[in-house]
Amino acid sequence: MAPIRHAFSRVMRSLVMKFTLLCGIILIAATAVLMGIEFQLKRTYNTETGLRHAELITELFASNSAPYFRRDDAAGLVGRLNDFGAREDISSVYAADINRRVIAVSGQTGYVVGQRAADHLIQSAIGAVDTRVETIGDTIRIAEPAFDGGRLVGAVVTTVPISAVAEPAGRILTRQILIAFAALVVFLPLAAFIITRALAPVRELTEAARLASSRKLDMRIDVQTGDELEVLANAFNRMFARLDASVKRVHRLAYVDMITELPNRERFRKELEQVAREAAENDTEGAILFLDLDRFKRVNDSLGIGEGDRLLEAVGRRLREATRAWDLANGDLGAGPSMVARLGGDEFTVLMPRLRDSSDAARLARRVIDAVRRPFEISGHQVFLGLSAGAAVFPRDGADPETLLRHADLAMASAKRAGGNACEFFESSMNQSAFERLVLENELREAVREDQLVVYYQPKVGMTDGALAGAEALVRWQHPTAGLLSPGAFIQAAEECGLIGEIGDWVLRRACKEAAGLMMKGHCVPVAVNVSAMQFESEHFAETVLEALQESGLPPEMLELELTESTAMRDPERVIKQIEPLRDMGVTFAIDDFGTGHSSLSYLTRMPFDVFKIDQTFVRDMSNDDHARVVVETILALAKSLKLKTVAEGVETADQYAALRGLGATLAQGYLFGRPMPLDELERFAEPESGHAAG
Ligand code: C2E
Ligand code: MG
Ligand code: MG
Repeated sequence: MAPIRHAFSRVMRSLVMKFTLLCGIILIAATAVLMGIEFQLKRTYNTETGLRHAELITELFASNSAPYFRRDDAAGLVGRLNDFGAREDISSVYAADINRRVIAVSGQTGYVVGQRAADHLIQSAIGAVDTRVETIGDTIRIAEPAFDGGRLVGAVVTTVPISAVAEPAGRILTRQILIAFAALVVFLPLAAFIITRALAPVRELTEAARLASSRKLDMRIDVQTGDELEVLANAFNRMFARLDASVKRVHRLAYVDMITELPNRERFRKELEQVAREAAENDTEGAILFLDLDRFKRVNDSLGIGEGDRLLEAVGRRLREATRAWDLANGDLGAGPSMVARLGGDEFTVLMPRLRDSSDAARLARRVIDAVRRPFEISGHQVFLGLSAGAAVFPRDGADPETLLRHADLAMASAKRAGGNACEFFESSMNQSAFERLVLENELREAVREDQLVVYYQPKVGMTDGALAGAEALVRWQHPTAGLLSPGAFIQAAEECGLIGEIGDWVLRRACKEAAGLMMKGHCVPVAVNVSAMQFESEHFAETVLEALQESGLPPEMLELELTESTAMRDPERVIKQIEPLRDMGVTFAIDDFGTGHSSLSYLTRMPFDVFKIDQTFVRDMSNDDHARVVVETILALAKSLKLKTVAEGVETADQYAALRGLGATLAQGYLFGRPMPLDELERFAEPESGHAAG
């Protein structure tokens, strides 16, 4: 039973089958009703025909046999009756006189001659002197009075089978069934065919809906039936088009970076996951490049957001072009093209699905770096950027996107620390140094919170009189376990984790406060404070300086701010804007480590600086290196013509001191006069009896 039910329910899943079955049922039902009506009509007609026929022949026989009744000619009557009874359409007949005594019999009547007929039919016919009819099943019985000259002489009773005069009902039924069956055989397949054709659009709609549910939405249903199905199909088409557009939009929002139109982080992650898995399965190698723009933040700040976006877009375009060109020339296109993505901010990535060897990654990195180094044209300005790249090779450096990205990022950070515009490959030692850096950063945050930083001061002395002319504030970290740390051990980490701003501000306030304290004690020691690029580029730099001065009460002319040459020359217009208001108040500005950068002389002469600090490397080498000596001489000559003061850094020997004095330097700073020292030592240094009268 179950298999039948199963098969039935499967068949019933098709609309064509359902409709065909319905048609079949309607056809059968209609045929059955028609057959019933036809059968009934035929039966009535048969009965009526039979009756008429039976009445006719019985009446005829009764009138023919009347003379025999009259003559009491039983023999003659029997002869006539036998002839009559022999007819095919008569099954039995008997004649009786008016006393219902049977005179002659033919066929099975149940009477014998001489017996009195007792059936009600003859009784009624003789009693009423009229014809009496009775139908029993397929037979008709008729009792017909016989008259002779208007006088009743007897009666004849015949039994007539209807079948003898009309077609039997059973045969009609058989024929009808045969016809109905033939109709079913012919019409059912025809109905199935028509239904199949009529439902074709429904099938198409169903198939379309099925495809749509499996996310294939870029299709059109072509139904031209001119009826509701066409309306439905058109509605489907419109719905699919809208859905398709929405899905594409959602996909774009989820996987495309809106600024550069490049794949975004999520898309990159998915692609990398798949490519890395395939590489592991097929025993091949691929690589990712983690790219970070150098100097983007500063350029972005000076350009404004809209222009910054355009710059990123242009960078994205160059990266894509460079990668595509590389793919065409060298790539293994069988493994698919390389993919450029933007992770966010100024970070980009390139996925190389297949490497012939790892130098491929280095070569592509070189190409993209060179592509980004070419100047960009943004709103009529030339913008110069750099690019640091880190490469991680899979499966060697990691099998999953997170690990690979982290490793490539570490390699990139290392390339950036080394000066940028280069690519480094990930090495496992980077994990260790990254960990150490993380520890350092955490400790540094704690140092700022826990007040572990101190300021040391290194004296600056006059070239001619050797008198104390100022001091440079230099930060130190009183580390709880490692002891006193120099800035070299932590300044770079502080810059990278963004703490330098906080540290720098703290040093500035502390130095101003301590210098003001010294003044109160009668020691007038101008203080010089180092300013990092990040600190200087902050919008609130000038405010911070003003606050430090106001809080401490230090006169502005007692404060000098040291900017490195690279900070000062990065964006000269901006630098001028930043320092001019402070300078107007009396704060002086020095260029630190002068000579080590690549300053443009034309800009330099226009910059509002007061002091050049000659880098200690030149001072150290000037006695045995002519080149160093020429540099020192040139800086001093330049400073003289620009009417600037000079400080020679790192003076360690009396010879250096003498030589610099000979060349006309203004001040000297170095171990020869004093190492960086705590405040109380500086105070003693400033005492007149120490031999260094405060200027
Ligand atoms: P800088 O501003 O050029 O400071 C001078 C550096 O030269 C100091 O090193 C000082 O100790 C060292 N020096 C002075 N005289 C001599 C000498 O005769 N011989 C030798 N060999 N070295 C001498 P320090 O204190 O280690 O500072 C290193 C750098 O750290 C500084 O260079 C400065 O760029 C940075 N720095 C120090 N304190 C701060 C700060 O508070 N903020 C910022 N942003 N940077 C700071
Ligand atoms: Mg300095
Ligand atoms: Mg210096």
